[in-house]
Amino acid sequence: MAPGRAQAEIVWDAPAGEQILAIDRGAFDAQLARQAVAAGAAVRTAARVDAIEEQAAGVALQVGTERIRARACVLACGVSYRFQRRLGLGLPGQVIHTAQVEARAVPSDTVELHFGREVARDGFIWSVPVSRNGQSRLKVGVMAHGDTGASIQRFLSRPDVSARLVETPGPPIRRLLPLKPLPRTYADHLLVVGDAGGFTKPTTGGGIYYSLLTATLAAETLIEGFAAGRLDEAFLERYERRWQDRLGQELRVGDWLRQLVTRCSDAEIDTLVRAFATEDVQAVIRRTARFNWHRPLILALVRQKGIAALLFRSLFR
Ligand SMILES: Cc1cc2nc3c(=O)[nH]c(=O)nc-3n(C[C@H](O)[C@H](O)[C@H](O)COP(=O)(O)OP(=O)(O)OC[C@H]3O[C@@H](n4cnc5c(N)ncnc54)[C@H](O)[C@@H]3O)c2cc1C
Repeated sequence: MAPGRAQAEIVWDAPAGEQILAIDRGAFDAQLARQAVAAGAAVRTAARVDAIEEQAAGVALQVGTERIRARACVLACGVSYRFQRRLGLGLPGQVIHTAQVEARAVPSDTVELHFGREVARDGFIWSVPVSRNGQSRLKVGVMAHGDTGASIQRFLSRPDVSARLVETPGPPIRRLLPLKPLPRTYADHLLVVGDAGGFTKPTTGGGIYYSLLTATLAAETLIEGFAAGRLDEAFLERYERRWQDRLGQELRVGDWLRQLVTRCSDAEIDTLVRAFATEDVQAVIRRTARFNWHRPLILALVRQKGIAALLFRSLFR
């Protein structure tokens, strides 16, 4: 999709020649839906699937009083896991809590991340300037274990943060975030993609790119299945091999770093952040950082002497 059509408001130049866009997610999804319709799909909104029933030749979906039959189903229902549990696919290996608010704010072009046990246990707080219809706003979110509502309120009441807001934010929107995939992401006539499959970056919890990637891999698998007349689980298992090939190492390395960093004390996190600001490490970041692929950067960073020693110590706690 052309980024401009998804109403990209703010563009940052990132290392490795990438550009990072803050997009309007609603506009992005609406544009995807328009493209799907143009490609021949029928899109139905406000249609809640209440049940998924496996049948010999496909699946039957219960939508209110209506029953819809299909040869295959792609489960993309985000962070609600009742279908996965009922279908015997299990639950994401790890989840974390989030809360987010948005309010009018003074203009800014600075993205901030805040770490610390008292700030956001096992996670972080982010503040991102956004612009809607020419209006400057600030998005503040937290990903952490524990009470994320309380974390965000504490952060918003800091004088340096409240001074930037020109209105009081409403109550935060809270949501779970998966940090590890389901034990199984396929069944007869069914594949699971995006948050429904537990696909997010273990480091940041970002999941839009992985949702699009797993959806693409699911589509490729189903195209082959339709061509071969095979939509049974033995055939669809190749979807899991596909995403393992593309994402397996990335997810393992990201999870490994997460385990180490969550064992670090606040003082050690400060040391890590200072190490990231040194000329040597900045050079490594400029050389290896890619927004959606964290493994090369993680592996390059843990080879840096000070960082390696610090993370190694945290391994033995
Ligand atoms: C606070 C917060 C901030 C985030 N920020 C970022 C970010 O900056 N960058 C990033 O990459 N990721 C971010 N993420 C993660 C990102 O939002 C998700 O990974 C992404 O939205 C997953 O897309 P998805 O299509 O799998 O699921 P979703 O976007 O959750 O979409 C699932 C859809 O399925 C619908 N649905 C659910 N159940 C049913 C049902 N029974 N019948 C019919 N429809 C149903 C839901 O209504 C929803 O529309 C953030 C997450 C949170 C919580």
